[in-house]
Amino acid sequence: MEKQLFFEPAVGRQKPSTIHNKETSCPFCDENQLEIIIDRNGPIILVENKYQTLRDTYQTVLIEGGGCESDLSQYPKNHLYKLFQFAMKHWQDFMLSGKYASVLMFKNHGPLSGGSIAHPHMQIVGLNKVDYRTNIHNEDFKGYVIDYKDEVEWNLSSNPRMGFYELNVVMSQNGKIEAFADFIQQSVYYLLNLFRFPCKSYNLFFYQIGASFACKIVPRYVTTPLFVGYSIPQVPTDLELVVKDIQNKVNIK
Ligand SMILES: [Zn+2]
Repeated sequence: MEKQLFFEPAVGRQKPSTIHNKETSCPFCDENQLEIIIDRNGPIILVENKYQTLRDTYQTVLIEGGGCESDLSQYPKNHLYKLFQFAMKHWQDFMLSGKYASVLMFKNHGPLSGGSIAHPHMQIVGLNKVDYRTNIHNEDFKGYVIDYKDEVEWNLSSNPRMGFYELNVVMSQNGKIEAFADFIQQSVYYLLNLFRFPCKSYNLFFYQIGASFACKIVPRYVTTPLFVGYSIPQVPTDLELVVKDIQNKVNIK
């Protein structure tokens, strides 16, 4: 097992960016530009990533089908559930294939998220030699509970990985995928529209933890130097107040 991924700069240089270059036309809007389609459910399409920038991996893109200007926070419930069923199925199929040491699923949104294409999409990436689970700890997903339904817990991290405010949604083995999707959508809506630190960028990171699944929703700003230089996360002292604010603003309790 390896700890590092090797990035190919020669491939990375060819990648278009519609986030940082508004004149670039969107490669996900034109279905004729999609070369290798792995599966689809109507407008939701899983394709091979044209730019395989990471050595010893298989990189795919899951086009969410909500439209170029849209965002996960805006999807009607029927589309949201269809998307999550499709994404979770393919992510698990990658894992069950036995080809990979581990499989990443994540989403970048906005200029500070690390993404290059604005069109809403997720990525599923099979890693041949790296197991991300060795970097993950149970306390990464513990926190102050915001809500709980259908065996799915929504909390605000008490042990954020990077620091500040990280939301977690943890689905137990028998948890309902609709509740999982609802809490993730509410998290994103809160961060983009109601959070007191204005936020335009976020990441979703998905994790397999034994028989459970978790999603971490991370608002993105300029990364704190204490984390970059020293790996010290800063934990806000007002987490319980933020939990109340989320409960009030998204009408819980
Ligand atoms: Zn587009």
